[in-house]
Amino acid sequence: MAAMKWVYNFSSGKADGDASLRNLLGGKGGNLAEMTNLGLPVPPGFTITTEVCTAYYENGRKLPDGLDAQMMEAVTQIGADVGAEFGSVENPLLVSVRSGGRASMPGMMDTVLNLGLNDATVEGLAARSDDVRFAYDSYRRFIQMYSDVVLGVEHGVFEDILDAYKHLNGYSSDTELGASDWKKIVDKFLELVESELDEPFPQDPHEQLMGAVEAVFGSWQNARAITYRRLHDIPDAWGTAVNVQAMVFGNLGDNSATGVAFTRDPSTGEKAFYGEFLVNAQGEDVVSGIRTPHSLTKASRKKNDRHSSLEELMPEAYGELAAIFDRLEAHYKDIQDIEFTIQDGKLWMLQTRSGKRTTRAAIRIAADMVDEGLIDKETALLRIEPGRLDQVLHPTVDPTAKVTVIAKGLPASPGAATGEIVFSASDAEISKAQGKKVILVRIETSPEDIHGMHAAEGILTSRGGITSHAAVVARGMGRPCISGAGQIKIDYSSNQMTAMGKRYSKGDIITIDGSSGVVMSGAVPMRLPELTDEYLKIMSWADEIRRLRVRANAETPNDVRQAFEFGAEGIGLCRTEHMFFDSDRIMNVCAMILAEDEAGRRAALNELLPMQRDDFIKIFEIMSGLPVTIRLLDPPLHEFLPREDEEIAKLSQAIGVTEKKIRQRMSALHEFNPMLGHRGCRLAISYPEIAEMQAQAIFEAAIVAGAETGKPVEPEIMVPLVGFVEEFEVVKNVIDRVGSEVMRDKGVTIEYQVGTMIELPRAALRAGEIAKSAEFFSFGTNDLTQTTLGLSRDDASSIISNYEMKGVISVDPFASIDRDGVGELVRIGVERGRAARPDIKLGVCGEHGGDPASIDFFDDVGLDYISCSPFRVPIARLAAAQAKVKSDRTES
Ligand code: ADP
Ligand code: MG
Ligand code: MG
Repeated sequence: MAAMKWVYNFSSGKADGDASLRNLLGGKGGNLAEMTNLGLPVPPGFTITTEVCTAYYENGRKLPDGLDAQMMEAVTQIGADVGAEFGSVENPLLVSVRSGGRASMPGMMDTVLNLGLNDATVEGLAARSDDVRFAYDSYRRFIQMYSDVVLGVEHGVFEDILDAYKHLNGYSSDTELGASDWKKIVDKFLELVESELDEPFPQDPHEQLMGAVEAVFGSWQNARAITYRRLHDIPDAWGTAVNVQAMVFGNLGDNSATGVAFTRDPSTGEKAFYGEFLVNAQGEDVVSGIRTPHSLTKASRKKNDRHSSLEELMPEAYGELAAIFDRLEAHYKDIQDIEFTIQDGKLWMLQTRSGKRTTRAAIRIAADMVDEGLIDKETALLRIEPGRLDQVLHPTVDPTAKVTVIAKGLPASPGAATGEIVFSASDAEISKAQGKKVILVRIETSPEDIHGMHAAEGILTSRGGITSHAAVVARGMGRPCISGAGQIKIDYSSNQMTAMGKRYSKGDIITIDGSSGVVMSGAVPMRLPELTDEYLKIMSWADEIRRLRVRANAETPNDVRQAFEFGAEGIGLCRTEHMFFDSDRIMNVCAMILAEDEAGRRAALNELLPMQRDDFIKIFEIMSGLPVTIRLLDPPLHEFLPREDEEIAKLSQAIGVTEKKIRQRMSALHEFNPMLGHRGCRLAISYPEIAEMQAQAIFEAAIVAGAETGKPVEPEIMVPLVGFVEEFEVVKNVIDRVGSEVMRDKGVTIEYQVGTMIELPRAALRAGEIAKSAEFFSFGTNDLTQTTLGLSRDDASSIISNYEMKGVISVDPFASIDRDGVGELVRIGVERGRAARPDIKLGVCGEHGGDPASIDFFDDVGLDYISCSPFRVPIARLAAAQAKVKSDRTES
């Protein structure tokens, strides 16, 4: 058997792999290889594959045989490239050991820098660099990181030592410490490790290297990483790769620097380099918020910022960097998120990956890149996550509102949010569970806080830049965020903060505007945002490309108008019962329910007719020329009767029926199983006069609105809860009869259809028979999900284990469609319906109609349209376009 190739080099100017090997090399490793092959200045190194991670866990946490030898051969190669030797005292090679899985998990796993240093090599480094301070600064960093990541000594204890030392010697910042200071710190660190572990800090570079590699593999299963994977649906089985790479030093004095950058603005999408850097610093310093970093470009430097930008400070290195940005974009055809270091004026590239961006930026970048000829429209559409579109549809602070500004910070992630202050991630979660909206306020955030950031409406930190942890994660999650609001002083122990001399406690309400960086006290009026040209452009491409039509579920004129403005091409579900609950009609509805006989019911229905007709006229006017599906009365009648004694008394007075009678009727109407009770088409069959009244209102409204607008709607009258074609036909006959009467009376002909909701498993199975009479189907996937125990993502075993506690199965209404249960029934319904009536119109009106993953499925099974709540219409339009692009691409 040929030996496994565990190690892929990127050294001597060429790489064994490339970015297409992401599964094997991880994102970081694949892109380091790719950049090496592009001829960019990447410090040489090698990637240990994800297969080693798999082997490590299969072996019971033991590195596979043969790895050590392959690694050491690669290390020798790196040494040859940079002219140094691993373990050599005079000329030591130092490396970083970096994790990097298939999917980016920023800050989730661990990295060790400056590996290879020990009491002897640190002297060699000092001599060769002619910089003792630099050598000992690097060594103390290494001891701290290695002890934390590999030996399990918490990094806070090192911070404490450093803080105490600075305090004692009157230093306020790390930059004030000189060579002898760092030497003393190193001694203290080494002592600390030895006393914590009862053995000295490992001095053997080879032992250090193997330990670090093992620790990175081990970190794949640490709590943070597991949580992150769960939140982002990353499979545990993927594993991580490890990259070992020659160190380059941004902390080698004032001609050295380190930074992070985006090739475009990840917040707005503007085509302008965006980033931060620090002089004389090492990688982690920029993102950790220890020092406040400076602007990359002259243009982005704030007026009152007296610190030079990189562009001004190191024009040559900056020029090279800017040229590389353009090359990387041309190569990857997407915005890049980059890490770089400048050692003694020489630029080195340490990482590139596609940049996380806000939805607003995603839209702008996708549209711009089409204009720039980098990508085509289809690709542009796939670049925007439909589920996050609501970020640009969500409110912003009303510019005319009177506000009390309490602090200003950096606009780290756009959008406005109001909520109660909480100071910890766990409080954020607890409050969220109680239905409260919260703003998470922290000095800075760390990966342990992501739970709470998720639960919060917005995030506010008093420290950190626009690439701080809080900023990056908030942008990824689509949460508004302000970082670095330095005027705010936070005291975790008392759950309070002060700003502008005022104290704010946990539970006080504030508003943050992540687009401007302004923090305000109290709740502030909000406004719907202006839709940008780029948004309109992208949506017009989506409309061009998609096959599925998009309608909305709406019944009030407000919702219908909103839906129309969001681009709905019709109403897929207008629930008439909602119109009955209106306070000025409910009495008539109750009178109808309590009537002794048909004549009494008809009298009450006659009162309702003009109101119902007016409802439809308004809707038909807004939706002129478009289809509107109206569902006949659906819920069991007892839902309309009052429950409280007081209300019963009021009703009795109003309609002159005794309270006793009302109670008797209530108990007669009581349903043991409301879902399968006397409701839906069963009501229309027992009381045809209800269906008659509704049909009359619909037809008359269509005629009135049609005359008004000149573009009549085509009403689609939907009979609910059909299980047998016979049921459907009884109700259809009533509707058709009323239709011809109204049309004869008014002397006007209107086009209409009668169809049914497929919401019972039986209806899906009998679709072939039902379609002989029904002209359209609308799949009611909410009820179908209930009745078929549609379980989607939730695993059945966790539900079974809950039986004892709950005794019921609860179906998550927000989960994507269950393709093996509900989906199967929809597919059967579509096939049988079409076979019986080839031109049958097919749609869906459940919550799934607004869910991107479900929309993909509905495109697959060939529905004609999807219908969802008005706010989700843009999401559905984009998701429908993506579904089409994806299926076109798999076909060709
Ligand atoms: P993360 O995934 O948390 O960004 P990285 O592996 O990218 O972890 O490394 C952490 C920091 O260390 C980054 O700022 C990176 O640029 C820096 N770094 C990593 N390797 C080197 C190296 N060989 N030389 C200099 N800096 C490095
Ligand atoms: Mg990184
Ligand atoms: Mg239903």
